[in-house]
Amino acid sequence: MSYYNQPPYGQGAGAASSNLQFYPSSYSNVSGHTTPSQASYGGYGTANTAPAYPGYGAGSSGGFGGGPGIQGVSGRMGESGGLRTGWLAAFGTEGYEGEPGLMEYSDVITFFHEYGHLIHGIMKGNTKWATGDLENDFIEAPSQMFEEWPRDPAVLKTFARHYKTNEPIPVELAEKAKAADKFGRALDVRTQMFYAAVSLDFYNRDPQGLDTDKLVAQLQTEYTPFQLVEGTHMQTAFGHLNGYSAIYYTYMWSLVIAKDMFTEFKKDGLLNPQVVTKYRDSVLGASGTKPAAEMVRDFLGRPYSFQAYADWLNAK
Ligand SMILES: [Zn+2]
Repeated sequence: MSYYNQPPYGQGAGAASSNLQFYPSSYSNVSGHTTPSQASYGGYGTANTAPAYPGYGAGSSGGFGGGPGIQGVSGRMGESGGLRTGWLAAFGTEGYEGEPGLMEYSDVITFFHEYGHLIHGIMKGNTKWATGDLENDFIEAPSQMFEEWPRDPAVLKTFARHYKTNEPIPVELAEKAKAADKFGRALDVRTQMFYAAVSLDFYNRDPQGLDTDKLVAQLQTEYTPFQLVEGTHMQTAFGHLNGYSAIYYTYMWSLVIAKDMFTEFKKDGLLNPQVVTKYRDSVLGASGTKPAAEMVRDFLGRPYSFQAYADWLNAK
């Protein structure tokens, strides 16, 4: 997890009402748009209990800190009378000479992903702790479902504009980007399964004498069509091993639930207030009151199913 400089937060009585702040990038003159965008999020309680810094270094694509920074989180509206607040940090790049920094399509999707965590954290108001009240199987479901909003051409054109002409992104272009998302999907999923296997298999065995290079090579061959490139050690840069530990599988399992929940939005439109309200009340706001499977059933009116995920895998 890379550390970045963030100005102190939560100082003074007015801090909790400053829900959205932008900080200048700590990168200096990164040319081009080559640095991958990263985003992370977290939660705060009331201003007087919030720590000066997040308890978790931002820089991962997600992650709610489990450290002392979380201890300020309290119920919706705050037990001490303050609004529940959160933070979302996104790394972008500086622009080319004379141009502003621009977000690429995948950057926007990552931003929405983390924003999905953020609204989940803000809406759930029944627990004292930011995490620990919800099955890990579910934590990536609201965030991965929210990735669908920027993929929707009608939603995308409401905010994505050309930086010179100010024209909204053409629907045809957004449709092409959506279609391109299907490319390599099966390989992506196999790779995710490989990561999940690394995450679990590092955890469930004696570290004494464990040859991680050998294990990674073996799992890569087992789960993907690719061989390990000699001399590489992907596990040393696999940030989720710190924090997610054995539960990297949650991305794919939460995606099963996310795709299923999204079927409800697909029926009536992504901006339909009735569906949004139902989702907020039965899933986000209900967090911590019952098992996630029950919340999903309340929202869908039926138990969760694999069908939507299978349809997505088959690019239907
Ligand atoms: Zn996430």
